[in-house]
Amino acid sequence: MKVIETIAEMQAHADTIRMGGGRIALVPTMGYLHAGHLSLAAIGGRHADNVVMSIFVNPAQFGPGEDLDAYPRNFERDRSMAADAGVDVIFAPPASEIYPDGYQTHVVLAELPGHLCGRSRPTHFRGVATVVTKLFNIVKPHVAVFGRKDYQQLLVVRRLVRDLNFDIRIIGGQIVREADGLAMSSRNAYLDPRRRHSALSLSRALEKAREMVRSGVADPARVIGAAEAEIRSCPDTVIDYIEIRDAETLGPVETIDRPALMALAVKVGKPRLIDNCILTP
Ligand code: AMP
Repeated sequence: MKVIETIAEMQAHADTIRMGGGRIALVPTMGYLHAGHLSLAAIGGRHADNVVMSIFVNPAQFGPGEDLDAYPRNFERDRSMAADAGVDVIFAPPASEIYPDGYQTHVVLAELPGHLCGRSRPTHFRGVATVVTKLFNIVKPHVAVFGRKDYQQLLVVRRLVRDLNFDIRIIGGQIVREADGLAMSSRNAYLDPRRRHSALSLSRALEKAREMVRSGVADPARVIGAAEAEIRSCPDTVIDYIEIRDAETLGPVETIDRPALMALAVKVGKPRLIDNCILTP
């Protein structure tokens, strides 16, 4: 496995692969890898013969007061996990390589970032869209794989690829969970045992919602109320949002009469955790 830290070397390597007829899959991450990230690398490997995993804690997608400095990092551990998972190249640039002095160009979507996470993190998706655009131009992938755990991010990326005519296929990977239901996340590393227990209420709330909708409840307010009660019953939880939204546009849903997205964000002590599922009547 190669580790590349500069844009010039990454672009030259991508050109060499492409000139030899090879296909490139990009898996963007912020590192501190877990099985969710590795599942995306495995998907990439089924669509391309070269899997490039980027590891970059992107300052542009963190707001003031968020956990940029505290974000967990362990490059040596990531390197060995990625190698074991069959990743061909890690692209791990320093922040100064991606945002040199004088940097001033950003990619902004008009509507999708106005919902869900974008409300409490108003500059987050601008940072995501910008770095993803740059990674596309640096890694030159044929396909790129993103997790459904960050559902809104996946929609933003799909929209940006259509709007800016990137010739890249976007693939969404299923959410990988711990055995007890907790969605895997690098931020789970912040949870002490008591809060980790409280964090289980997120997946329990989603499961309860799925059961309600399966058994015929179509009123979003009732479903959200039950999910809220589940989460509020656990200590150290502060709900940012729990919403049921159109799974494509993130627009409002009056009645759950077709598959809809249920998404939530909850602070459990320090970390803000997100999770989601599709509710199917
Ligand atoms: P991150 O390192 O948290 O920015 O995540 C990098 C990529 O991994 C994103 O596309 C995430 O959606 C995806 N991802 C994170 N956690 C999971 C998970 N539990 N299951 C599947 N994909 C995930």
